[in-house]
Amino acid sequence: MPIPLRQTVRVGAYVVVQHLKGVRRYPLVLMLEPLFRCNLACAGCGKIDYPDAILNQRLSVDDCVAAADECGAPMVVIAGGEPLLHREIDEIARRVIARKKFVYLCTNALLLEKKIDLFEPSPYFAWTVHLDGDRDDHDRSVCQSGVYDRAVAAIKLAKGLGFRVNINATLFDTANAERIARFFDDAMEIGIDGITVSPGYAYERAPDQKHFLTRRRTKELFREIFRRDPRRRWSFNQSSLFLDFLAGNQSYHCTPWGNPTRNYFGWQRPCYLLGEGYARTFKELMEETDWEAYGTGNYEKCADCMVHSGYEATAVMDSVRNPAKAALIALRGVRVEGEMAPEIPLDRQRPAKYVFSRHVEDAMARLNGRGEAAKSPSGAG
Ligand code: SF4
Repeated sequence: MPIPLRQTVRVGAYVVVQHLKGVRRYPLVLMLEPLFRCNLACAGCGKIDYPDAILNQRLSVDDCVAAADECGAPMVVIAGGEPLLHREIDEIARRVIARKKFVYLCTNALLLEKKIDLFEPSPYFAWTVHLDGDRDDHDRSVCQSGVYDRAVAAIKLAKGLGFRVNINATLFDTANAERIARFFDDAMEIGIDGITVSPGYAYERAPDQKHFLTRRRTKELFREIFRRDPRRRWSFNQSSLFLDFLAGNQSYHCTPWGNPTRNYFGWQRPCYLLGEGYARTFKELMEETDWEAYGTGNYEKCADCMVHSGYEATAVMDSVRNPAKAALIALRGVRVEGEMAPEIPLDRQRPAKYVFSRHVEDAMARLNGRGEAAKSPSGAG
C-alpha cells in the first residue's frame, strides 16, 4: 500500500476538520528546502541556479522545525537541492517526525548508503528517490551516467532495512509511454512502495528549455501510459483524482497554498515552482499573497503547469467533497479514452514578470551585510 492507512486517516481527518471549520485556504504539505546545493545538475531543474554564496546557505534545524510548526501541514516534503548534503538533515527529520508529521525525504540517493544509518524506519517517514525513467532515461535526465544504478542499489538497501521507499518521476516531452510503462513495472519489481509522477514544470532557470511538456501533450502522454496498465500493477502515491487530472479528465485550478514552500529566501510566493516573491511568515504568505494573480489562465508562467505540487491539493480537496467520484476512479481506473475535460482559456493571462535577478541581488546584499534586505533573515520581498 503506497500510503499507509494511518496517514490516509490522519490527513483525511485534517482536511475534513478544515472544511468543517470553514477554512478557505489551508496547507496540506509543507515543502521544506533546507538548502539549494545539489550534487547533480539536472537539465530540467530550475532550483539550483544560484551564486555559490547562496548555494552555501542552509536553513538551521530550528528554522526547519519552526517552519513545520508555523505552517501546521500534516505532511512535510524535505526537498532542495539535495537534502542529504545538509549536515543536520537527520536531526531535521527526527524533530519534524517527533511532531507526528509525515515526512518524505527527497533524494537523488547518491549519498543514501553513506547516511542511511542516521535514520530509522518509522510510520512517519519515507524516502522519495528521484528516478525519471529507466537507466538510459534517468542518466540522461540527470546528465550523469551510473546514477540510475546507484539509486536502485540505494532503494534495495533502504527496503532491506525496513524503510518505506517511493520513487519520484518527472516526465518531459522526450518520454516514451512504452518505456515509462516498463520502467514502472521494473520499479514495482524492485519492491518500491509507491510511484509519484508528474510532468516537469517549465522552470525559467532550467538549462534545458526545449523539452517541457505542454498541457495537451501531458494529457495525451499520461493516457498512453495509463493505458498500458490495465491490470493496475502500479501503486501510485497520489490521489486517484490527480491521476485522472493528468489524463485530461478534470478541469482543475491549482491550489498553490496547498504546498507552501519555505527556503532560504523565506516563504515562497506563490508556490513551490514559482519564486515571484517571499513572505517573512507563513501567516503573511497566506494572508497577503494575491492568489488570483496566479494559476493557469491567470499568469503566463502557469500556462502549462500540471505539476503535483500545485494540483494534488486540489484533487485531495475534491476527493473530500466528492468521495464517490474519487472512489469510482480508484476502483475502475483512470479513463484513457473519449473527450477530455475543457481546458482553461489562456487569452486573459497576464504576461510573465522576471524577478529572479532582483531576489538574488537582495540576498547577496543581505549576505554582504548591505541594504534593506539585511534587516530580514528571510529576505522577504
Ligand atoms: S499553475 Fe499554480 S502551481 Fe503551477 S506554477 Fe502556477 S501558481 Fe504554481
